[in-house]
Order: sequence, then structure tokens, then C-alpha cells
Amino acid sequence: MNVDIQSVVIGAGVVGLAVARTLAMSGREVLVVEAGAGIGAGVSSRNSEVIHAGIYYPSGSLKARLCVEGKQRLYAFCDEHGVEYRRVGKLIVATDEQQHSALQRLLEQGRLNGVDNLQWLDGAQARALEPALSCVAALWSPSTGIVDSHALMLALQGDAERFGATLALHTPLLSARCREQGFELHMGGSQPMTLHCRELINCAGLSSPKVARTIIGLPGSFIPEAHLCKGSYFSFSGRAPFRHLVYPAPESAGLGVHMTLDLGGQARFGPDVEWVEHIDYRVEPRRAEGFYQAIRRYWPDLPDNSLQPAYSGIRPKITGPTEPAADFLISGCAEHGVPGLVNLFGIESPGLTSCLALAEHVVKRLNDR
Ligand SMILES: Cc1cc2nc3c(=O)[nH]c(=O)nc-3n(C[C@H](O)[C@H](O)[C@H](O)COP(=O)(O)OP(=O)(O)OC[C@H]3O[C@@H](n4cnc5c(N)ncnc54)[C@H](O)[C@@H]3O)c2cc1C
Repeated sequence: MNVDIQSVVIGAGVVGLAVARTLAMSGREVLVVEAGAGIGAGVSSRNSEVIHAGIYYPSGSLKARLCVEGKQRLYAFCDEHGVEYRRVGKLIVATDEQQHSALQRLLEQGRLNGVDNLQWLDGAQARALEPALSCVAALWSPSTGIVDSHALMLALQGDAERFGATLALHTPLLSARCREQGFELHMGGSQPMTLHCRELINCAGLSSPKVARTIIGLPGSFIPEAHLCKGSYFSFSGRAPFRHLVYPAPESAGLGVHMTLDLGGQARFGPDVEWVEHIDYRVEPRRAEGFYQAIRRYWPDLPDNSLQPAYSGIRPKITGPTEPAADFLISGCAEHGVPGLVNLFGIESPGLTSCLALAEHVVKRLNDR
């Protein structure tokens, strides 16, 4: 079968669905091709489901800009589409004097990024909010929230389809070739076919670099190396110890083992940081040891044997453990010289929060010539 489509989005995670929606709303004919059996089975369903405020990221970075803008867009979208969320707020805590200065740097960084409602709390003020907490100081971020990520993806899909987009499941992109006027795509699945499109957007999450390498005509120097950084979660069996999200001062590759709440009020802890070679989502029960240690720094009363392995996710990193953290890498014609092609690499946290702002940004980048 040979089919012509204007725009093809690879991957039906939260980012691919948001991009498809924005493209469809701009009047384009859009097809989303997804290798899996359903939407959002990749990174998008293995995260903390936190709507981040935009505090941590370097000034002017895509992560900072798109998170702050994306948060506002996301809250508005959830209101309009009946997607469940709670603006629960979050405390980032310093448990010793060294972390105290790290917290001060975060406060400044957050303000530079436009997060202007952060409040500095001393230990007593923090404990007035959360009596079980042990800390010398905390940052209170009232705009942080939690969201039902699957309901969000269903709403994005519904909106995209309402504007004419089509979703093809079980349809992996096997390879592509740059043509004079667009792309020739070779699709696998039960009905292998060739598609032609003018615009190609690679939102394949962990597989984005691998997918990009199958595009004949795209110079390899524009494709970063993929690094996999696993984060495991443990659920807490008792009543949640806190009413707000509680994060430690951040670690190198993640934000530290934090406590998030699901929309039912159940507490879970994670994710930790484990650099891996292969995708394996099993949670090793022995990793609980590190969790007890990390959590007891800010919650000394965590009972023994109260954590159960829950689930894990893998961060699609584009720099390794010894390199500085990378920004989102959105690579369009201005970088690689191929009109109509945008690759999204390294869409780790805060990708869920940023999805709607990322989508706007990607559609603008499609106009690169
Ligand atoms: C542990 C962890 C915690 C996180 N916590 C948060 C958080 O609290 N808040 C936040 O904002 N962000 C968070 N994130 C980041 C967020 O989850 C991601 O940025 C976001 O989900 C990425 O979505 P995506 O659509 O790019 O990727 P994915 O959801 O992985 O979607 C990619 C899709 O592409 C498909 N695909 C792959 N190859 C092909 C192919 N060849 N052909 C067709 N389809 C293909 C896959 O099957 C998959 O469905 C977290 C991430 C992790 C790992």
C-alpha cells in the first residue's frame, strides 16, 4: 500500500499526541504512528505525574521556558477537558546546612525562570505545614501539582482526532528516506506499507535516536547517543505521611527520592537513579535499602518494612553519568538541513508538564527553512 499524508508523527506518548493535536489544529492532515498496542505505554506512563513549576532548570533553557509555559497551558487544558489534577503544592527540603545553600540557589534559579510565587520557610514554618518533616529549611512551591497522565493523553488524542488526526497502532516506523519533497516511510506491523509525507516529527521517546538513525539522508552527526537512566518507585503501605509533595534538595541525574501522591491520596517514593544498558522495568526489592536511607533524612519516622516495589521508568538521557545534564534537544532544519524534519531527543522530565508548550515549539520549528 502507498499512502500520501501531510504530516506524520512517530510515537503516541504524551509529546507525540500533543504535537499531533497542535498540527491538526493548524489545519494539517496528520497521522500518528505508534509501534505499541496503545497510546502512552512508554515513558509517559512511567513517571511521577507531577506538574512541575519550572524551578530547577538553567535560565533560558528549553526545559525552563517550556516547563513554565507548559504548566500554565496544562492547567488550562485540564480545566477545559475535565482531566483530573490537584494543585497540591510541594516542599523542597534542606536537611542540613550544606543543602541550605543548595536551596537558596534553587530559589534564585526559580525566580530567574519566572516562578515568582516560591516561598522560603524555616524549619518551624515547614513543620507547621507538615508536622512529620525533619528539615532546617524548605522552599514552598504552590503551583506544583499532580495530574492523571493517562486521562491527559486520552484528552489529547480525542482533541487531535476531533481536528482530523488519525492514530495507527501496531505501526512501527522501520526506516525512512529523505526525498526532494518530503519523506518516504517504511512501516512494519501486520500490514507493512510505504507512506509519503512532507513533514516528519520524531517523538519516539527512548527510541528517538534509534529512529533518527534509520532516516537515510539525515547526517549522523546530528543524532545524539542514547543513555538510559532508570528510576524505580516504591509504594508506601500506610496512610500518606504528608499532604503536599516532598522533595529533597536535588541529586545529579534526578530530583532525588521524593514523595508524591496519586490522585487517590496514596503515597509513593522515587525515582532513584540507576544508569542501565537495557530496558528492564522490573523493580529490584533490594533497592529499598537506599530508599529507607534517603527518605529517613527528611522523614525519620518511616517505619521498617513499609515500602513495596511499585514500578519503574527510564529517563531518555542524551548525556551520560559523568557529563553535565542536557537540555531538551529539538533538532530541526536549521540544525541538520533537512526541511520538514524535527527530531525530539532527551525528552525527560519535565516533558509531561511541558507537552503542550513543546508541541507549539515543534510546530514553529517545522517552518525552519
Ligand atoms: C522516572 C521518570 C519520572 C518522570 N517524572 C515526570 C514528572 O513528574 N513530570 C514531568 O513533567 N515529567 C516527568 N517525566 C518525563 C516525562 O514522563 C517524559 O518527558 C514524557 O513522558 C515523554 O513523552 P514522549 O511522548 O516523548 O515519550 P514516550 O511516552 O516514551 O512515547 C514515545 C512513543 O514512541 C513509540 N515508538 C518508539 N519507537 C517507535 C517507532 N519506530 N515507530 C513508532 N512508534 C515508536 C513508543 O512505543 C512510545 O509509545 C519523568 C520521566 C521518568 C522516566
